[in-house]
Amino acid sequence: MFDNTDRGSRQGLLINITGNGKGKSTSAFGTSLRALGWGWRVSVIQFVKSDSETGEKRFAEQTELPFEIMVMGAGFSWNRHISESEHCQAAAAAWQTATDYICNGRVDLLILDELNIALNQHWLELAGVIDTLQQRPSWMHIIVTGRYADPRLMTISDLVSWIDNIKHPFDSGITAQIGIDY
Ligand code: ATP
Ligand code: MG
Repeated sequence: MFDNTDRGSRQGLLINITGNGKGKSTSAFGTSLRALGWGWRVSVIQFVKSDSETGEKRFAEQTELPFEIMVMGAGFSWNRHISESEHCQAAAAAWQTATDYICNGRVDLLILDELNIALNQHWLELAGVIDTLQQRPSWMHIIVTGRYADPRLMTISDLVSWIDNIKHPFDSGITAQIGIDY
């Protein structure tokens, strides 16, 4: 059931979850759970593509809730087989989709996963991104994730959380765990 009756009372926030610790994308996915519980529409656009199967993609495929994940980046930034122009083209396509979702108010919560990375890598122009983010409907919440959030993006955000890395199993030789990391 889609319930947007509260849109008039909402103050759509621009949220940025950044820092070196684990929990940026999972924080955004946790917020989706909360939003979906209220009958909201939620979309995730991923700016850094991962070919691996993930629990969140499996969930999106299985659920009948209004939740979708669009994997749109060109690949991992450290993959040398992907050219800079391929990264820029993929990021531009992802940003075009994001712009459509924002300007046409397609969802209540929009998650721009790893947009911070796309900007840090200069695959997208920051000024245009800031301009569009600021034009979002008054009721739309947007969560941007990824390391290296640009200070100018943090300045225009309503909420910025910096996740610090105190300890991570990777440093003890424990590889990514199903259900926890993907
Ligand atoms: P998650 O998706 O688990 O919330 P994240 O979004 O905070 O992680 P990313 O920068 O997107 O982190 O990196 C994704 C992957 O890298 C995850 O498998 C995560 O466990 C791992 N990771 C995150 N932070 C660290 C770290 N400080 N050291 C090693 N691996 C990390
Ligand atoms: Mg992430």
